[in-house]
Amino acid sequence: MTTPTLSTFRRIVVKVGSSLLVDQTQGEVKRAWLEALADDLADLHRDGRDVLVVSSGSIALGRSVLKLPGGPLKLEDSQAAAAVGQIALASAWSEILSARGMTAGQILVTLNDTEERRRYLNARATIGRLVEMRAVPIINENDTVATTEIRYGDNDRLAARVATMASADLLVLLSDVDGLYDAPPNEDPNAKLIPVVPRITAQIEAMAGGAASELSRGGMRTKVEAAKIAVGGGAHMVIADGRVAHPVRAIAQGARCTWFLTPSNPITARKKWIAGSLEPRGVVHVDAGAARAIVKGGSLLPAGVIRVEGAFARGDCVLIRDAGGAEIGRGLVAYDAAEAGQLVGRNSRDIEAVLGAPGRAEMIHRDDMALVGD
Ligand code: GLU
Repeated sequence: MTTPTLSTFRRIVVKVGSSLLVDQTQGEVKRAWLEALADDLADLHRDGRDVLVVSSGSIALGRSVLKLPGGPLKLEDSQAAAAVGQIALASAWSEILSARGMTAGQILVTLNDTEERRRYLNARATIGRLVEMRAVPIINENDTVATTEIRYGDNDRLAARVATMASADLLVLLSDVDGLYDAPPNEDPNAKLIPVVPRITAQIEAMAGGAASELSRGGMRTKVEAAKIAVGGGAHMVIADGRVAHPVRAIAQGARCTWFLTPSNPITARKKWIAGSLEPRGVVHVDAGAARAIVKGGSLLPAGVIRVEGAFARGDCVLIRDAGGAEIGRGLVAYDAAEAGQLVGRNSRDIEAVLGAPGRAEMIHRDDMALVGD
């Protein structure tokens, strides 16, 4: 089976693990390595790709600055370490990207930001806007506020959620292994690397290890979990060895790695999610002009709305009905029911005057919409 080529992707999330980025003995950023990686990212960026980075390393850097002992840290100590280390991490990225003509923007997210619909829409909009401005989001978990029950704890799954949230079509996990093996490579000399995983079967999950490795953050198990999220969201994922200089270039040049392929793409995956798995909380009735625009692939503007029904909140799924009452589709609404009611029939230019605060021009953005028969 042929593997995809990097140049075919439009929006790429690159996840960098702590062990790659932080020199454990010195407790400092491995600058030469990071500079080489930044060269690779600059190549992609110059080539017109959108580049997003999910970077770990705040706890590893912070613990060295604070001179905390080795071994596992208590939650509050790792949170304190993250508070200190994140500054060093973000400034290293910012400096090194800027030397290559790129602007870095720091985004710290919690599990709630990616799982709760309203916050998800906000985080998605900010990431989207940064990328449109050609900046490179540098994303990490907001470890200083995330407590045990509400944290990812590993950046593999976080990166996969970021990839789906940003409608990326590729997630690159740079790791200290070069891919998924059919047996533990450190125990079995005959272990073979799997170059392509077309579908994540029970057999593939078994290869990633059972309960024994469940605690190992960043182990193969979380990587396969990440692959499930990415593939379900319409992104391919590749696990590759990050320990070499220019690790992304190495993938493009055919280095050994494991590709997890998605049968879908980010837009269709997102539309399927909106069409299938969300309970509609209200109805937006639209006029004939708006109905035509929507069917042709446009967004729904407040001007085309005749009436709204239901007690929906911003980010909820609502049905879109035409003037005759027929369902045209459904989508995630950008305003809550009270605001949407005030905006009925209004020009998007008047939103600030009507609501007293600026808001999005679209009542439902076309990327947040699934049409009947899509
Ligand atoms: N967010 C953690 C950090 O920056 C890393 C989590 C992980 O290693 O996956 O240190």
